Amino acid sequence: MFSEIEQKVKDTIKKYNLCNKKQKILIALSGGKDSAAVAHLLNKLGYNIEAIHIDIGLGKYSEDCLKAVREVCRRLDIKLHVYNVKQEIGKPIIKIFKKNPDRLSNCTICGVIKKWILNREARKLKADKIATGHHREDELQTFLMNIFKGSPQLNSNFGPVLDTKDSKFVIRIKPLFFISEKEIEDYSGKLKLPSIREICPYRKETYRVETRKLFEKISEKEKENMMGNFLEISRRIKTDNSQINYCKICGEPSRKNICRKCELMKIKK
Ligand SMILES: [Zn+2]
Repeated sequence: MFSEIEQKVKDTIKKYNLCNKKQKILIALSGGKDSAAVAHLLNKLGYNIEAIHIDIGLGKYSEDCLKAVREVCRRLDIKLHVYNVKQEIGKPIIKIFKKNPDRLSNCTICGVIKKWILNREARKLKADKIATGHHREDELQTFLMNIFKGSPQLNSNFGPVLDTKDSKFVIRIKPLFFISEKEIEDYSGKLKLPSIREICPYRKETYRVETRKLFEKISEKEKENMMGNFLEISRRIKTDNSQINYCKICGEPSRKNICRKCELMKIKK
């Protein structure tokens, strides 16, 4: 028997062909409740999963994240791969936070670096897909933020699957795409999924926090409508993702000649 949330995730996987049981799926576990819920759900639905965690190296906060991740994997009896940012990019992430001249938020920088490591390592581990814990509210916020920031074309990727059709790019899936934050809270609370409660001490993403506030008074029904409308907009502005470059420095797939991670690494001062 499946609960409502489990059935919804099952339906999303089927409708959008997110993955199948022959594929190896790496769950990007952060230490938070959302990715822990994805691991639990895909495990229960019988998928072949392993976990990957990027240790950002931010002191006690990161240690607690790793602890929660280890506990999730122990409970589900799944294999865990851990990578350390400092080891992977050769310097602590805090140095990049400090040297960033474009005033990118710490969360944006961290996201770029984590995605870079995730893709490279998932490919080495021969994973077919990477599953992340993004839920409905995350996605609605990102969609609006892209518009507010003048990059509406980024919304052409709005949807539960991100596939560039490039062999070096590991397809990313979001099984919780249609699931609300509240449903995940209830689910992870009921199952007592190990997760951290504290907020990253380096979090500086006021723009997202502000955008998040916009949703507080919006009803469930309206949010569902927005998801449908945003998916339709995304379908209409879909661009051809197949023309991908490779970064001249690291060789990873990139929209430009030099990938965002290598751009960040080049910053001197
Ligand atoms: Zn690069």
